[in-house]
Amino acid sequence: MEVDYIIVGQGISGTLLSRCLIRAGKQIVLFDNNYKYAASRVAGGVINPVTGKRWVSSWMIDELLPYAETTYREIENELKCSLLKKMPMLCFFSTKDMRNIFENRILKAPKYLQIYNEDSKWQHYFNLQEGMACVNPCLIVDAKRLLSTYRNLFIDQKILIEHQFNWKDCLFEANKVRYKDIVADKIICCEGADAMLHNPYFSKLPWMKDKGECLWVYIPGLPEEYIYKGEIGIVPQGDGIFWVGASHNWNFKDLLPSEGFKQDAIHILDKWLKLPYTILEHFAAQRPANASRKPFAGWHPEYPVLGIFNGMGGKGWSMPPYFANHFAQNILNGHSIIEDINISKILN
Ligand SMILES: Cc1cc2nc3c(=O)[nH]c(=O)nc-3n(C[C@H](O)[C@H](O)[C@H](O)COP(=O)(O)OP(=O)(O)OC[C@H]3O[C@@H](n4cnc5c(N)ncnc54)[C@H](O)[C@@H]3O)c2cc1C
Repeated sequence: MEVDYIIVGQGISGTLLSRCLIRAGKQIVLFDNNYKYAASRVAGGVINPVTGKRWVSSWMIDELLPYAETTYREIENELKCSLLKKMPMLCFFSTKDMRNIFENRILKAPKYLQIYNEDSKWQHYFNLQEGMACVNPCLIVDAKRLLSTYRNLFIDQKILIEHQFNWKDCLFEANKVRYKDIVADKIICCEGADAMLHNPYFSKLPWMKDKGECLWVYIPGLPEEYIYKGEIGIVPQGDGIFWVGASHNWNFKDLLPSEGFKQDAIHILDKWLKLPYTILEHFAAQRPANASRKPFAGWHPEYPVLGIFNGMGGKGWSMPPYFANHFAQNILNGHSIIEDINISKILN
């Protein structure tokens, strides 16, 4: 079989890049091993425009946020299902110091930040300490539904092959790549954190290990029009179910859900939440993180038919829509890749 492109990995990166190439009329084959604990299948799907304890606007967020909103809305129409919610994030201060940092930041750079004085409305639900603030707007993408709906569509269209891609069987020629009985013009790696261990061609990129854990929790009665952020995030999923997370662990022995995270999360919820809750599920996965906190896109210096679109780290729902299109313009039309994400500066 001959196709234009082989894509390895149907997480959010591989899915959105495939979508761009298919929309341009290209023929692709997508390999995915359907690993249940891939980052995209475990993620909260939250797009939060500010980062970290200093409330700094995330890199390129003024472009990424509206682009992501438009893309996910288009995808809702294409897939005929509801995937995106837009809502504020209520942030709870546990110390005066946190509050001071926020108040200083809002004076200097108020975009996305709002003072919130309606604390008393929340006394029934939460133990309040040093008041609240608001980040607005945030987006929540229904990660599981988006990926599984695309997966079914790609299987129906005979584009997706459920298979563990093995790099030993991949052969590069001058202008072609061959994998078993498939020949393509190019192959693009979108394997997420698996690339760190199993892809021999991009091991020199500055990957970072970052294990994240989360819980699915039933909290009947908690309003579902807000994301809540204290020492942990509580993200509404509908029908009283909330995604609660996530941790960052840079030094771990395995990728299993840990009792340590679960106990920490219970301790935080017990201190913070006044409502009863039930833990339904507990997941862990590895983020495809890297030191630059920006995506990796571009071409292998030795094998020009071999590309990569990866490295989304903790921003795997805001960065892929914009950068899948950006990289697709390079693949399809030879447009240049912005230096911030182009792997050529690292590998050449
Ligand atoms: C607990 C947790 C919470 C998170 N929450 C958020 C959040 O709220 N907001 C946000 O923006 N980001 C969040 N992230 C980060 C985000 O989920 C990731 O950045 C993003 O999902 C990465 O997507 P990806 O497609 O690049 O990789 P992945 O999701 O890892 O997808 C790679 C795919 O390739 C497949 N694969 C790998 N190797 C092979 C192979 N050899 N053959 C076949 N298939 C293969 C995998 O099974 C998988 O399906 C979170 C991450 C974690 C772990």
